[in-house]
Amino acid sequence: MAAERKENVVLFPFMGQGHIIPFLALALHIEREKGYSVTFINTPLNISKLRSSLPPNSSIRLLEIPFTSSDHGLPPNSENTDVLPYHLVVRLLRASTSLKPAFKKLLQDLIHQHHGHRPLCVIVDIFFGWTINVAKELGLFHAVFSGCSGFGLACYYSLWLNLPHRKVDSLEFSLPDFEEASTIHISQLPKNILEADGKDPWATYLQENLSAWVDSDGILFNTVEDFDRLGMLYFRRKLDRPVWPIGPVLLSSESRSSIGKETLVTPELCREWLNSKPTNSVLYVSFGSMNTISTSQMMQLALALEGCGKNFIWVVRPPIGFDINSEFKANEWLPEGFEDRMKGSSRGLLIPKWASQVEILSHRAVSAFLSHCGWNSTLEALSHGVPLLGWPMAAEQFFNVKLLEEEMGVCVEVARGKSCEFRHEELVGKIQLVMDDTEKGNEMRRKASEVSEMTKNAMKNENGVKGSSIRAIDNLFDAAARQMENTEGRQS
Ligand code: UDP
Repeated sequence: MAAERKENVVLFPFMGQGHIIPFLALALHIEREKGYSVTFINTPLNISKLRSSLPPNSSIRLLEIPFTSSDHGLPPNSENTDVLPYHLVVRLLRASTSLKPAFKKLLQDLIHQHHGHRPLCVIVDIFFGWTINVAKELGLFHAVFSGCSGFGLACYYSLWLNLPHRKVDSLEFSLPDFEEASTIHISQLPKNILEADGKDPWATYLQENLSAWVDSDGILFNTVEDFDRLGMLYFRRKLDRPVWPIGPVLLSSESRSSIGKETLVTPELCREWLNSKPTNSVLYVSFGSMNTISTSQMMQLALALEGCGKNFIWVVRPPIGFDINSEFKANEWLPEGFEDRMKGSSRGLLIPKWASQVEILSHRAVSAFLSHCGWNSTLEALSHGVPLLGWPMAAEQFFNVKLLEEEMGVCVEVARGKSCEFRHEELVGKIQLVMDDTEKGNEMRRKASEVSEMTKNAMKNENGVKGSSIRAIDNLFDAAARQMENTEGRQS
């Protein structure tokens, strides 16, 4: 009997923490669930950060694709959105297309190393529509993996391809191909969409790359069919392709060190602090890996945190206008004496730059999460039954909040965008509404724990009973295997 062939799956995320993290989670999930080998492609600096700490029992192969940021008008050694100011992110996107010949060569080399046997499947980032032709030329099954929600990405996709706000005078409008999303308010548009005229760098890049998806073999989402049906419906209808909701795939806190981020407040210290707090008493505040708020918003937020009387952990990134790598400057960014008062009363823990988020969200002391509602953060909160206070800032986050608030009932929107003005008193009211023993707060907690159950059920794989997300990943690889058989059958 011939030895069983170990299929190889190639993964290639965009160079940003919000993309690399779910791809790494997917890689570990594929390795564990399917037993396939995984080749993980990225640029040298990202690979070297990942290399230091893949779980010891993982055989994921990390493969560098050559890239020199300074060749593309980017600062030297800038290979990840987390070291770039927001306005340069689009340049990194555009620079990614220069990887096309190297990507093709890597795939050819892989086929060669496996004696002509092709990878079962190439799974790429939502921003890498340009990879589809390469995969097709080599006869490979190609899928896009979205770390965004289906609903959020459906709105984002439709907005970029239709720019509907350019065609109406009103402040509210609906999406021409996604009426189920009801109305969108102009204030929910990310800045780059609001300003897009179809010829700007964001629009030209995204319109080309998103519309290329119709030629991919299907789209995977890090989401759960049960709470993200509308988004799945949109893409099935729009692309006439299979859509596989396979989530949530999440990185455990142990695997987190693998993303190569230093935390200035150690996880141990953070754990000790949380251990000293009563159950359900802490508000966790963080806006992800890329976004920052203005200094005046930061002041109001600090006043609200002080005024609400709750315990809190706040991951503080430098405000807009400061270098992203700037040292923590309490006296310039925060109200006078704030840091000392919070330390003195042990009510607030300020963590500069980066925290071990999953560990925090899974702690019994955490009761709510004030978040920009990036989808990774959202899934991390929901899988632990933590309700959200939403402050969307960019990309599809505005529509994640819409889904979470209007459809799922697990979120209250507290602010919108990086330049909105709000008064701390309003935020205090909303924090108390969600965290206190109010009808709304209790209802949100109940719904969040229902959603947490849904996420567990979707990922269940016990005694032959498979949840919806496990069945979806089986279906993806069955489709890939069928295509491989056809291709190899034709060639033999
Ligand atoms: N993250 C973290 N510590 C931080 C900030 C972010 O571990 O201090 C992780 C977070 O757990 C999530 C990811 O970074 O997995 C952020 O992804 P998300 O989609 O929420 O937002 P983005 O950074 O892409 O805007």
